[in-house]
Amino acid sequence: MNERTLDLIRDVQDYPQPGVLFKDITPLLGDPDGFAAMVDEIAGLFEADKIVGIEARGFILAAPVAYKARAGFVPVRKKGKLPAETLEESYDLEYGSATIEVHRDAFAPGDRVLIVDDVLATGGTAAATVELVRRAGADVVGVAVLMELAFLEGRARLPGVEVRALLTV
Ligand code: IMP
Repeated sequence: MNERTLDLIRDVQDYPQPGVLFKDITPLLGDPDGFAAMVDEIAGLFEADKIVGIEARGFILAAPVAYKARAGFVPVRKKGKLPAETLEESYDLEYGSATIEVHRDAFAPGDRVLIVDDVLATGGTAAATVELVRRAGADVVGVAVLMELAFLEGRARLPGVEVRALLTV
């Protein structure tokens, strides 16, 4: 991605809580060329049968990537949002913990799965998603994010997983 794309990601100070500098991708999503370039680039990174999107901003990227790649789309959602039988995984946040779920029958055995999200920060969300996909019987071919906050060392939580970021700060 080019410099102009980076300019379309806005820093919001003290969101969602004091002391946090939040990367807001909504200006980039609203830019026709920026949005298309982002989807095209992620769709070209890996060969996959299914694209997993992580609620909620991950859905915005993963669904058009799945369409473009002619792959299936699978949502990973916060606990309590998926209607059928699920697998769940909990992980620690800075304050407290979170639980995410996937439908138990979302994958065929051996499906090649690409996990897509907007931002890789501490890596906790992505690591829990990798675990869910594997427990559901599929193979994780990679994790693709729009932006990696490298100083938080999220990759260290994803040993053996190929992680690709379009932008790194
Ligand atoms: P992690 O689990 O610490 O890697 O956090 C990643 C998750 O939190 C992703 O699902 C992101 O959507 C969200 N996230 C963390 N920091 C930011 C940010 O600065 N901008 C947008 N989303 C963020």
